[in-house]
Amino acid sequence: MKKCKACKKEIDSKATRCSFCRADQRNWFGRHKVISIFLAVIFWYLSLPYLIWKSGMKTIFKVVLIGLVWIIATTLFVNNSKQQGKAGAGQASVSSNSSNQSAPTETPVPTEAPIQVEASTLIADYDKNKLAAQEKYTGKKVQLTAFISNISQDFGGSYFLSLNPNGDQYYFGTSIKCTFPDKSGLTSLEKGQSVTVIGEAEDMSLGIVVLRKCELVK
Ligand SMILES: [Zn+2]
Repeated sequence: MKKCKACKKEIDSKATRCSFCRADQRNWFGRHKVISIFLAVIFWYLSLPYLIWKSGMKTIFKVVLIGLVWIIATTLFVNNSKQQGKAGAGQASVSSNSSNQSAPTETPVPTEAPIQVEASTLIADYDKNKLAAQEKYTGKKVQLTAFISNISQDFGGSYFLSLNPNGDQYYFGTSIKCTFPDKSGLTSLEKGQSVTVIGEAEDMSLGIVVLRKCELVK
């Protein structure tokens, strides 16, 4: 809380205008933002460096000092304009805010947790009722563990793994095809090996359930 400059009533400490008498609570700099910024630029970038230059110091010190002043001034201006951007209009520009609020940490967009499913269950669901399986999986992320039967590149140029629900080399049921954005993780894999992948379920066609944009979990 603070007292209004005009009517002396208690008002919010962050208020720029009195809620009773409407008096402007900002100081001169806050009311004249463009002029204050202009003056600050003149002072930090020209006047202070000029005074340093005119001093009796060695040239090397002058140069370093002026460089420092410019760097500090630029940092202050950048930080101040960032704060203004966050707080919106209202706060005085030149005198920095006394309230040192910690910057809000950027929280990553929560990615949807994948549906954990057995490879055999996913295949059985598509085999039993494609429409129901589409409703359940298509467009969603699924995570499953299965056995590699093929590591290759298709006609479209996509790198893919063919996965079977078991390690039987004579398995002829529905398989799962996982396409990958790049082959980096695939080159070290071997046929017959079990892998866990996360991918976006597409659909089943020609006896193959397709997962797109896959990534290897292990
Ligand atoms: Zn007032």
